[in-house]
Amino acid sequence: MSIVYSEDYRNHSTGNHPENNSRITHTMDAVQEQIKKGFIEEIPVLKPETVSKQDLFRVHTEQHVEMVRSFCEGGGGYLDFDTFASPETYSTAKLAAGGAVTASKLVLNGHDFSYSIARPPGHHATRDKAMGFCFFNNLAVAVEYLRKVHGVKKFFIVDFDVHYGNGTAEIFYNDPDVLYVSIHQDPNTIFPGKGFVEETGDGGGEGCNLNIPMPPGSTTSDYTYILEKILEPAATAFGADFYFMDVGFDCHMEDPLSNMGIDDEFFPWIGAKMKDISGSMVLILEGGYNLEVLRRCNVKLINVLTEEVSIEELTDIRNMESYLYRGGDDINPKTETLFKVIQDTFSPFFEF
Ligand SMILES: [Zn+2]
Repeated sequence: MSIVYSEDYRNHSTGNHPENNSRITHTMDAVQEQIKKGFIEEIPVLKPETVSKQDLFRVHTEQHVEMVRSFCEGGGGYLDFDTFASPETYSTAKLAAGGAVTASKLVLNGHDFSYSIARPPGHHATRDKAMGFCFFNNLAVAVEYLRKVHGVKKFFIVDFDVHYGNGTAEIFYNDPDVLYVSIHQDPNTIFPGKGFVEETGDGGGEGCNLNIPMPPGSTTSDYTYILEKILEPAATAFGADFYFMDVGFDCHMEDPLSNMGIDDEFFPWIGAKMKDISGSMVLILEGGYNLEVLRRCNVKLINVLTEEVSIEELTDIRNMESYLYRGGDDINPKTETLFKVIQDTFSPFFEF
């Protein structure tokens, strides 16, 4: 496993905005601390390359890239009511997209997992619009790089950030070779107001946009209940060549920007699950705005992926059993209904 990270990500300078430098500096401090204590194996931390305009143009319009560049050069400010750019945001956003590309190269070259811990995040950025704290779609830039430069054909993406990755979804909405599975808070109750079950993709991409909009208050049991039923059958039927996990810690119950009931256990659970399914994958950091959650849950996720230390040794985790699906004990009936709706909607494409 490797981590792709640069201190230059701090140059996207947002002050007291929830998406600020402390998110990644706290995360990296926590990881280094655990390595020093011997709780996580030594993980190489590699520097990201930056991307060229050509890399960006595979995903974004020239006008969009030029708008971000000139807006930042002009001093930056608020692009919309919640997306803030500083003068160095353009170069930092290119480096964040580069982090996803570098992590992808590492996995192509034999790393089992590579985690791009970068900012600004990317999954709300569409082809021609910055929004939701995102400027360029880091994950999409990596997909198109792998496709065009290395001939990789089929991609599986699971995105568990609490917000629907509308940018990623839109970019690949007609694409039969990218299966995007997103589990997020019901868009009737949260930004960006999209991501319903019936948004299944279009044209050749129909059936390749799989949304799991969870009711507010959903717990780890609800999440694992529904993901256990969907992830593996979808991945097996689709047959991807390359896997991405879009990582968001804002679905945690302690996150200030959402209303979910997820606890720490979800993150190692999904890590272990996707490790089983994929064998190797690129992880890309999206949201998560509680610094303590970022510290704890990143360590737990990485620990499961490196497997150097048993789960029992992590102080506030119960035991390995708790990472496995624990049965339908306290499943919200709304979660069961939601699963049936997804099962029905996707019956032409997948057998769940
Ligand atoms: Zn989010």
